[in-house]
Amino acid sequence: MGNHGNDVFEDAVARVERIGREAGVDEAVIAALRQPEATLTASLPVRMDDGSTRYFIGHRCRYNDARGPAKGGIRFHPQVTLAEVQALALWMTIKCAVVGIPYGGGKGGVTVDPKQLSRLEIERLSRAYMRAMADFVGPDTDIPAPDVYTNARIMGWMADEYETIKRVKAPGVITGKPISRGGSLGRDEATGRGAFLTIQELARKRGLVPAETTVAVQGFGNAGYHVARLLQEEGYKIVALSDSKGAVYSKDGFDVESLFKNKQETRKLQGVYCEGSVCELVPHEQITNEELLELEVDLLIPAALEGVIDAGNAERIRAPIIAEVANGPIAAGVDGLLHERGITVVPDVLTNAGGVIVSYFEWVQNRQGYAWTLDEVRSRLKDLISSAFGEIWSIHEKEGAPLRSAAYTVALRRIAEAIETHGTRAFFVGDS
Ligand code: NAD
Repeated sequence: MGNHGNDVFEDAVARVERIGREAGVDEAVIAALRQPEATLTASLPVRMDDGSTRYFIGHRCRYNDARGPAKGGIRFHPQVTLAEVQALALWMTIKCAVVGIPYGGGKGGVTVDPKQLSRLEIERLSRAYMRAMADFVGPDTDIPAPDVYTNARIMGWMADEYETIKRVKAPGVITGKPISRGGSLGRDEATGRGAFLTIQELARKRGLVPAETTVAVQGFGNAGYHVARLLQEEGYKIVALSDSKGAVYSKDGFDVESLFKNKQETRKLQGVYCEGSVCELVPHEQITNEELLELEVDLLIPAALEGVIDAGNAERIRAPIIAEVANGPIAAGVDGLLHERGITVVPDVLTNAGGVIVSYFEWVQNRQGYAWTLDEVRSRLKDLISSAFGEIWSIHEKEGAPLRSAAYTVALRRIAEAIETHGTRAFFVGDS
């Protein structure tokens, strides 16, 4: 997973080109989206606890800001590459446009195995990242957030470093911060809640009955845990769950909350990372992450890393519905195959947009200096998800497009509107 050279970025661009042409988007817009606006790669010196200095590689990509400042998370993972960061930044551009929030897309990452670092080393790395990026990001240019293996505490360190360098209070430079440092209520659960709301919208269209719907979730981190929890509260049966160490299966379903509590108790780096594996916790059958993806369940939720469903296993996927909670869990090359096999894919750019939506709310609150209630956050999130779902569903029905193509169509048309206001060839020299 996550280790695919340049393919992941080339695939992401190819998808935009294919869907953009099908949707009749101006070639000038597709040309603007073929490469990032700007990318910064930096060496991050970190003093290790043993006194030595290690140099990590960090990236930040501002992919496109036609609709507003760039926005996107920072990932700490051993398989981070520039190509992966660029693909994720392109997906953020699409995602912000799909849900109609006034942002472009960006992303960042550090190639590191954070589980090998001490807390102090993680703090120094987080601050080193922001020192390198402080002139590249900013509340009006590019606003980072958490992603895989980064969390609120890390966002707090980075915000603090930025404010120290700039000698101002600028909470809007980063989202997903601790509540006491200007974070928003509801940001921690936002990605999972947005996914849950999206699945509920689909369930209404499809007549799915929660109590009769079995679910497998790959990845039990921020996104995976909250979507599993909310689905179970609604009555869905969560029969399989996994983390990086393996997967568990129980045909009767798991109690998500107690699994989560157990995982919290067994973790080794409390307050920073969960290290315990769900495999050690309850009576269950142990399976592999690969087997989890191929289970005969009604709903499959990949919520870990990208590229887990590709030409190698797409034929063996048995779930009729896949809700992409991770970014890019399905390789672009198998979109067509899954569609032909009658599998409904609810695309990442909608399913996991709850995170960036509530990040947007956090930024708005920071700029206003006024904190919203949890109810306000949740109800505005629900409104944005259901209106985006409605627009996508209507293109899906009218034009017969798969949901991913419909979502990209909504997004590309919106980005096109922003780019076209400056004039394209059609405006300056007319059609020839
Ligand atoms: P996280 O760090 O909280 O959790 C990641 C989870 O994935 C952990 O449970 C980890 O054990 C598991 N994992 C890692 N490697 C794995 C492997 N090889 N096999 C199975 N599981 C593995 O990260 P997160 O924030 O929940 O992000 C998960 C996905 O959701 C990513 O694709 C991320 O880009 C996407 N996402 C997150 C947010 C957000 O707000 N956090 C928003 C949108 C999208």
